[in-house]
Amino acid sequence: MLPTYDAFKSRADGVRAQIAAACLRSHRDPVEVELLAVTKTHPAEAADYAARYGLRAVGENRVQEAVEKQPHCTTRIGWELIGHLQSNKAKLAAVHFDRVQSVDSEKLLNHLDQAAATLGKILPILLQINAGRDPAKFGAEIEDAPRLLETALARKNLRIDGFMTIAPLSDDPSVAERTFATLRTLRDDLASRFGVPLRELSMGMSGDLEAAILAGSTQVRIGSALYGLR
Ligand SMILES: *Cc1c(COP(=O)(O)O)cnc(C)c1O
Repeated sequence: MLPTYDAFKSRADGVRAQIAAACLRSHRDPVEVELLAVTKTHPAEAADYAARYGLRAVGENRVQEAVEKQPHCTTRIGWELIGHLQSNKAKLAAVHFDRVQSVDSEKLLNHLDQAAATLGKILPILLQINAGRDPAKFGAEIEDAPRLLETALARKNLRIDGFMTIAPLSDDPSVAERTFATLRTLRDDLASRFGVPLRELSMGMSGDLEAAILAGSTQVRIGSALYGLR
C-alpha cells in the first residue's frame, strides 16, 4: 500500500535528515548526495510523489514495469534503471530510461551503445561492480572493471558517469562498509588511471545509507524508507 503524500513527505524529510547527519560526520556537503527514490512494485503515483517532493529521478528494477508506469505519471521526472538488464531489452531501456546503472558486461555495453546511436542520443550509464563479491549479486567482478571501463569509454553513444554497487545482505555492518570502501578505492584508482572524473558513486539503500555516505556515495537509492515495505 502506497502511503499518503503527507506520510511520504515526512518519511522523505527523515531520510534527508539521515543523509545530512552522515554528511556532517564525514565533513561532506549534503548537496553532493542525491536521494534517488526507488519506486519498484509501487504504482505510478509513487513517482509523482518523488517529483512533487523535488527529487530529480526515480529508480526502477525492471524495464517493463517502468514502461507501464510512465504514461500514468502526471509530473516529469527522470528514470534510472537499477535492476539487471538483459541484452535483448537494451533498446527498450535506452528509449525509456535517462540512465542505466546496471551495466556489467561488454555485451550489454555494445547493445546499449547501438541502441543509443539508433536513437541519436548519448545514454548516460554507470558500471555495476560486484564490490562485495556476493555470488547472489549481478555486477562485474572487481578485476574486470578496468577492461570494462576501457571498452565503455570507447563507445561514442555512452557517457560513463561512474559506478554502482549493492552491498551483500548481512547482519554484520562491516560487510557493507568494506564493500563501499572497495568501490570508492576502485573508482579513485580508475579515475586517475584513465584521466576521467567518474564522479557518480551510486551506493547505499534504506538499511546502509550512512555507511555508503561515509565511504563517498553521491547517490543513495531508497525504497522502503520512503514508501514502506514492499
Ligand atoms: C530495491 C532496490 C533498492 C532500494 O532498496 P530499499 O532497501 O528498499 O531502500 C536500491 N537499489 C537496488 C538495486 C534495488 O533493487
